[in-house]
Amino acid sequence: MSVKELAKELYPEDLFGYAEKLTEGELKVLKHLRQEMETRIRPVLIDSYEKALLPREEILGAFAAAKIMTHPDLFVGREGSWKAGELYNAFLYLEMARFDPSVATFYTVHGGLGYNTILIGGSPEQIERFGTPVRNFEAQTCFALTEPDHGSDIAGGLATTAERKGDVWVLNGEKRWIGGAKTADFIPVFARDVESKKIKCFMVKKGSPGLSVENVEHKIALRIVNNGHITLKDVEVHEDDRLVNINGYGDVAKIFVRTRADVAYIAMGTAAGAFNAALRLTTTREQFGRKLGGFQLVQEKLARMQANVQAAIAYSARIAEIQESGTEEMLNSSLAKLHNSLRMRETVALAREVCGGNGITYETEVARFFTDAEAIYTYEGTHEINAMIVARELTGIGAFI
Ligand SMILES: Cc1cc2nc3c(=O)[nH]c(=O)nc-3n(C[C@H](O)[C@H](O)[C@H](O)COP(=O)(O)OP(=O)(O)OC[C@H]3O[C@@H](n4cnc5c(N)ncnc54)[C@H](O)[C@@H]3O)c2cc1C
Repeated sequence: MSVKELAKELYPEDLFGYAEKLTEGELKVLKHLRQEMETRIRPVLIDSYEKALLPREEILGAFAAAKIMTHPDLFVGREGSWKAGELYNAFLYLEMARFDPSVATFYTVHGGLGYNTILIGGSPEQIERFGTPVRNFEAQTCFALTEPDHGSDIAGGLATTAERKGDVWVLNGEKRWIGGAKTADFIPVFARDVESKKIKCFMVKKGSPGLSVENVEHKIALRIVNNGHITLKDVEVHEDDRLVNINGYGDVAKIFVRTRADVAYIAMGTAAGAFNAALRLTTTREQFGRKLGGFQLVQEKLARMQANVQAAIAYSARIAEIQESGTEEMLNSSLAKLHNSLRMRETVALAREVCGGNGITYETEVARFFTDAEAIYTYEGTHEINAMIVARELTGIGAFI
């Protein structure tokens, strides 16, 4: 099968053929991942969602089996690099999110936010020590920045403290919404140095005395992802486990420039998943003696969803090129997250709508995408925050405060 045929088979919603820019090796890894997710995760997906249970072993097992972060075919021409190509990264999120947004979100806190924190913040020794088990899925990580009283204003408001006592730092404070925190082997915790007032990052190990993690309960979205409420009471972290290259919010922003693009890709995949599910139902279910997809009003909505998905893919593919060239800026990532999230929100609503009553059951799938979209719209910079980042560039006026 040629690259073109394989790309078409995997992503029929990509009418403009951006997936054809992937290598054969990259497409094969994505296809393998799909098989692994179908075999391992699909059988437990709906039950896990309803019961708000994280099928951790199934998810990590699928990622590890397909070697999505380390397969040699991903590193042809980039041997020795810690990361695969950015276009592959965009399609990796498309692949996961069109399967299930919780799975993609679980991956982004581990292989996106957590891993990029290590790569950007760590010394070569720390990258080796923490990055290797993360990319092999032998250890799980996450990203602990948000606090109960500081979400959008975290840059200035971060209240968790770190006090140095000899070779040890003592951490106190709370973190909220931290994806995967309860099961993570090490949690990158951002805290303010009481002396310099600068934000630093500490790798807090699972089971550290003084660390407790409770799941945020009763969520309507991303029910599979365990979002943790973390309490740190005199938690000790050795200086060796402080990421040496994070010395202020500017360094945290460098992580977001990369990972905000990842969430733009997740929004693209969530829209694609809802669209595909709606297409399946409307081309099989009949009313008034003909397929739902044969009615003009339904067709207009299908076409609108297709246009949204294609626009999100186009945004993502260009952002991926920019990231790959090393010229990425917050403006681009914020614009892509804003755009793709808006297109996603419209698409999941249309998808739910054309499925009628079936659109609110998990069997038809669109219901999961519909509710999950709300969380994706909010995390990694809300719509308003990303809008103000973009508009600050346009007007030269910062409107945050
Ligand atoms: C499912 C989920 C997963 C998450 N995962 C993680 C994670 O793994 N790690 C982590 O660190 N964080 C995580 N977060 C936190 C996420 O990044 C925050 O929810 C987000 O930054 C918004 O903060 P907030 O929810 O406190 O909303 P708030 O800051 O309280 O904002 C509420 C509303 O007010 C608006 N608003 C705020 N300030 C302004 C302003 N100046 N002008 C105009 N409007 C404004 C916002 O846009 C929003 O609409 C997660 C959140 C969710 C929901």
